Amino acid sequence: MTRKMLIAGNWKMNGLRADAAEFQAMIDRISTDQFESHDILICPPTTLLAKFASIAEKTEMNVGGEDCHWEIAGAHTGDISAQMLKDSGASYCIIGHSERRANHNETNQTVKKKAEAALQSGLIAIVCVGETLEQRQAGDAMKTVKSQIQQSLPKGANFNNCVIAYEPVWAIGTGETATSDDINQMHGCIRELLQEIGGEKLSQSRILYGGSVKPQNAKEIFSGKDVDGGLIGGASLKAKDFCGIVAGAS
Ligand code: PEP
Repeated sequence: MTRKMLIAGNWKMNGLRADAAEFQAMIDRISTDQFESHDILICPPTTLLAKFASIAEKTEMNVGGEDCHWEIAGAHTGDISAQMLKDSGASYCIIGHSERRANHNETNQTVKKKAEAALQSGLIAIVCVGETLEQRQAGDAMKTVKSQIQQSLPKGANFNNCVIAYEPVWAIGTGETATSDDINQMHGCIRELLQEIGGEKLSQSRILYGGSVKPQNAKEIFSGKDVDGGLIGGASLKAKDFCGIVAGAS
């Protein structure tokens, strides 16, 4: 079975309405062939989601959320539900990004509940996992990532509705990237674990790498047999960089 690569941009807390021009430039620069052979996604801040969805309407570009609450609606001031993201035009949602795990105390249990809410609302969940530098230096990278996956995978996950993003925390926004060997070893290990948990239906889920992916290193990173695309932070903000990364996957 061939897996379609997913190149996903995470804008984090960046972007104002004027930056819609950059998003439009991405759509204009990505070729029809690239849109056909890859899934391309931008997750802007929620304030821009509906606007970006309307720009992307009638194109192959996807938009998604950066986080969601685990409930569909209710008394949760400031929170956004998966159903609201879907209603705004999202087709994906990033869940359990390390910045949310670290800054908002998200545990594997909350990540799992959020991912389940995403699935129930018809969104594809991108579940993020990854070790800290201390965990890697202690030789615990695999153990950490395995237990994150075991505990945060949503019920009902399969290759259609769930994507895993392996993002070593120490490589996010730092300019550091894991070596190709480390990435390939981790992705292979994640694929085996998915097979053990859910057989072929789960093991064929896409596994993305994230952590300082740039146009210059994209080709090498994406050449790994178990690397099915990337989750891109900083370099997804500019059309030139993001499209350079898409080109690296082509
Ligand atoms: C991220 O935030 O998911 C990420 C990978 O960021 P960056 O590409 O900037 O390292």
